[in-house]
Amino acid sequence: MKTSIATVSISGNLPEKLEAIAKAGFDGIEIFEQDFIAHDGDPREVGDLIRSMGLEITLFQPFRDFEGLPDTLRAKAFDRAERKFDLMQELGTDLVLICSSCHPEAVGGIDRAARDFHALGERAAKRDLRVGYEALAWGRHVNDHRDAWEVVRRADHANVGLILDSFHTLGRKIDPETIRRIPGDKIFFVQLADAPVIDMDLLYWSRHFRNMPGEGDLPVKDFMRAVMATGYSGPVSLEIFNDQFRGGSPNTIAADGYRSLIALMDDVRNEEQGVDIDLPDIPARTDVSGVAFVEFATLGGEAKALEALLPTLGFELAGKHISKKLQLWQQNDIRIVLNLENTGHAHSAFVMHGTTVCDIGLSVGDAKATVKRASLLGAKPFNQPIGPGELNLPAIRGLGGSVLHFLDDATGLNKVWEVEFDTHSLAAQGAGLKRIDHLAQTMSYDEMLSWALFYTTLFDMQKTLMVDVVDPDGLVRSQGMEAKDGALRITLNGAETHRTLAGNFLADSFGASVQHIALATDDMFETAEKLKTLDFDSLTMSKNYYADLTARFDLDSGFVARLSSLNILYDEDAGGRYLQLYSKPFAGGMFFEIVERQKKYSGYGAPNAPFRIAAQKRLARPKGMPRI
Ligand code: MG
Ligand code: MG
Repeated sequence: MKTSIATVSISGNLPEKLEAIAKAGFDGIEIFEQDFIAHDGDPREVGDLIRSMGLEITLFQPFRDFEGLPDTLRAKAFDRAERKFDLMQELGTDLVLICSSCHPEAVGGIDRAARDFHALGERAAKRDLRVGYEALAWGRHVNDHRDAWEVVRRADHANVGLILDSFHTLGRKIDPETIRRIPGDKIFFVQLADAPVIDMDLLYWSRHFRNMPGEGDLPVKDFMRAVMATGYSGPVSLEIFNDQFRGGSPNTIAADGYRSLIALMDDVRNEEQGVDIDLPDIPARTDVSGVAFVEFATLGGEAKALEALLPTLGFELAGKHISKKLQLWQQNDIRIVLNLENTGHAHSAFVMHGTTVCDIGLSVGDAKATVKRASLLGAKPFNQPIGPGELNLPAIRGLGGSVLHFLDDATGLNKVWEVEFDTHSLAAQGAGLKRIDHLAQTMSYDEMLSWALFYTTLFDMQKTLMVDVVDPDGLVRSQGMEAKDGALRITLNGAETHRTLAGNFLADSFGASVQHIALATDDMFETAEKLKTLDFDSLTMSKNYYADLTARFDLDSGFVARLSSLNILYDEDAGGRYLQLYSKPFAGGMFFEIVERQKKYSGYGAPNAPFRIAAQKRLARPKGMPRI
């Protein structure tokens, strides 16, 4: 399978785009005329530059307003086409995309358009070139791939074929199943893009809001299944117009594109009977059964503060590493590792971010298969020298320099605690905290799609609703993601301004990372009472918050008084109730949350966030004061 991406999808100048595209693993590019024109080099040099990077030019585009013109303009359109053909031959590509005409004087008529394409096919054949016809969703007369196919069918020329673009078909809600009736050899090229469903002008939506397959809401997989069922064997290419991507890092956008494309085509191969897609064997998305550990890189005063905080949450120092400065703190199934090393990945993370979550361990069905899938999707395996007696745990680099370790039963890697740590059995049940409910990662808003794509392509996880979290100083977008049965829940919080609590944390910690860890209890009141005896310092909620709760929900006044006395927050949805209790912030803005998720409550307490954030901001250090 030949992978390709349009140069317009990536930011930067032409050499920067090409470098990022080649590095991400693509086989070819669709060259946008504009990228070529803006570059200072003649067409042959551009073609050579592209090929020197191991890429081929899969398509030249766009050629606009060709078909169905009145006689006075028709001859000129053919002249323009001949000049494009000259250019294509110098660049070294044989296929041009002609998008359906938007010309105000285009007169329409399927047969007229077919005659134009037949004549153009004759000219293209003389030079061994091919022309592909794409129905733009806003084309004047042709705006549906079924009509474009009828033009191609009636043009009846070997050098004329159809170009399909998922956005134009799905954006107009045209049933992709209709593609199954088109012969695969008459489809010359396929372009893929997803998009969030927004009710707006088609042209504006297409030019600004397209995103990678899997990042939006369109049924791109159904579209591609139908395409592959026809026997299509040409390139599969991404054509993404997105304002955010145009301003993003070329390497990140290219890597995301490659990841989305390979994951999509692997899904198509697995789900569509009888299609043959030339891809390596890719292990299935990983089933995550829980968070095995969370590791903090920390040193000095911040390490001391964490060591003092964890016992107040009911954690016990359960062991120390046999050779490294690692402490294992445990409560029931929750393991928190403090890494106080002066070298290695954790130390680098500390130097860069201050105290930070530098590593997350996930319990999976097959750790090695997880790393294999991640690598085939473009992630980097993570390796660090291991000491005598230590296990070599499979790991990858996550986004933002973080590390993910994978532990499984099959290879005995879940035994790492017994093998590498001097442990003793826990003295008590702690405060009744049983497992990690969710990890909340903070990032800048424009990194959210990348992170969501990373998780959904690697793990068997679904995106849940995106909600707006209202900070008194701005909005934070929060995207929930969940593995089966809630075994892993992650919230991605995208900050748009530094003035929000999340944005401030992001600026202070120099990049995306875990801002809070939510620990689950099965009985919030019992846990909260126990924590009081451990001198847990909870975040104080205002009396007004509790007065408002009584007004918003039908709650018993004694119940609300109890919530208030323990600083517990309350929310409910159709599935059940949600109780929350927060720690005060530590180490520059991180915090712990304790939750009781009753029945099928599906959210994360977003309606409470403004009040929680206001309470946290009241505690914030005055500007200019150093971190402690
Ligand atoms: Mg297109
Ligand atoms: Mg939370």
